[in-house]
Amino acid sequence: MKYKCMLCGYIYDDEKEEIKFADLPEDWTCPLCGVGKDMFELVEDVVEEKKEEDTLSNAVQISENNVSIERINSNCINCGLCVRTCTVKEGMTFDKNSELCVNCGQCIQTCPVNALIPKDDRKKLYEALESNKITIAYTSPSVRVSFAECFGMEVGTFSQEKLIGALRLLGFKYVFDTTFAADLTIMEEANELVNRIKNNGKLPMFTSCCPAWIKYAEQFYPEILDNISSCKSPIGMMGKVVKEYFCKSNNIDNAYTVAITPCTAKKFEITREEIDGTDLVITISELVKIIKEKNIKYEDIPESDYDSVLGEGSGAGIIFGNTGGVMEAALRTAYNMITKEDLDEVVFHDVRGYENVKEATIDVGDLTLNVAVVHGITNIKNIIEDIKNNRCKYHFIEVMNCEGGCIGGGGQPKLFLEEEQMLKEKRIKSLYERDHTSKIRCSYNNPDIISIYKKFFQGVGSPLAKELLHTTYIKR
Ligand code: SF4
Repeated sequence: MKYKCMLCGYIYDDEKEEIKFADLPEDWTCPLCGVGKDMFELVEDVVEEKKEEDTLSNAVQISENNVSIERINSNCINCGLCVRTCTVKEGMTFDKNSELCVNCGQCIQTCPVNALIPKDDRKKLYEALESNKITIAYTSPSVRVSFAECFGMEVGTFSQEKLIGALRLLGFKYVFDTTFAADLTIMEEANELVNRIKNNGKLPMFTSCCPAWIKYAEQFYPEILDNISSCKSPIGMMGKVVKEYFCKSNNIDNAYTVAITPCTAKKFEITREEIDGTDLVITISELVKIIKEKNIKYEDIPESDYDSVLGEGSGAGIIFGNTGGVMEAALRTAYNMITKEDLDEVVFHDVRGYENVKEATIDVGDLTLNVAVVHGITNIKNIIEDIKNNRCKYHFIEVMNCEGGCIGGGGQPKLFLEEEQMLKEKRIKSLYERDHTSKIRCSYNNPDIISIYKKFFQGVGSPLAKELLHTTYIKR
């Protein structure tokens, strides 16, 4: 039997869930929009009519090899909104070659009936938590401003401590902060930028933290791959640091690492041979389903803090979740690397905001840096054409696939489309507020970062840092 939420379209399928709908507790709520059981109606007949794959000609094609997104054919109403998102927002030529998917999951965000969902990896997580492995979670910056809204709180509510508490309730032995690895990314990326500028290296340099952007460039613009920073994404770095630094120094040889992300493309990223270290990516949407399956109520979740050593992140790392955040974080550190001085004012207003392409000119010591920030992947095309024609004036360009940045990732809780930008701006504001009140606002001042470079890497850009924290790209 299947039951459909009358508000958001979520389908509860008795056959797939562990508890029958009728047996759910009376205060159970829709995992997607939070309304009660009384807002669900039995829809089995309606849904069964639309099960056949070949009747779904308007729907985005999802390859069976797709590790990020899955389609529940029985939910699909063949409305074509997902294809519209893929062509308009992602700029894809919808030629039915589903292998070209960049795994961003924006189609999931648009689907009105939850026919598209993040690849469901809940079973893998349950198995890991029930095994004798040492389970280690780490949370991306942007999920701490979307977690609470799944439990009826206001969009953008900052809920880091509850999120950590929920992971501990589920049985994770350690909980770390991927913001730490965002700081690590900034140290390596700012160092790379400064080196490229000083040594006539390839410019402009693109950021590399968004795996959807990387796959997009590898597929459609292989000629600019040398322009992309060689830094792994924060999750790519975190997996390596947890396994090679934390686990080895604590004699843990049976760790199972789980990244809690806003992002479906990260599920693809960890399948890349060179990005080892993270065993599983669970989107915040999947995590919330698990918490609700276990009947854990938000108010009953105890607040908790990250485990130390890899648990400290700066305000610069926190704003990684916003469009413009990586750029601003990198500028704070690049300024210090070039001038050896601290900024009086760490906020770079020109790279903040919701415009799809933002640009700024920044004086850093004797250097004048031209930078650009792009979100919504299709907006990068003109800049790439300028690079190919030697007309590009920028030194450094941040690219994020999703509108708003990772706060708008494909694995985030869905927002009402009519109010999408306004609601995303609430999440953005929440991350900036946390940065504003952080004691440490620049990556190079993070004591955990200082310590790991001293004790382990032996310096920024060292041979060991190059080996563990950097990567290469391939033409696809
Ligand atoms: Fe993932 Fe963030 Fe890139 Fe979206 S912008 S695909 S959430 S990394």
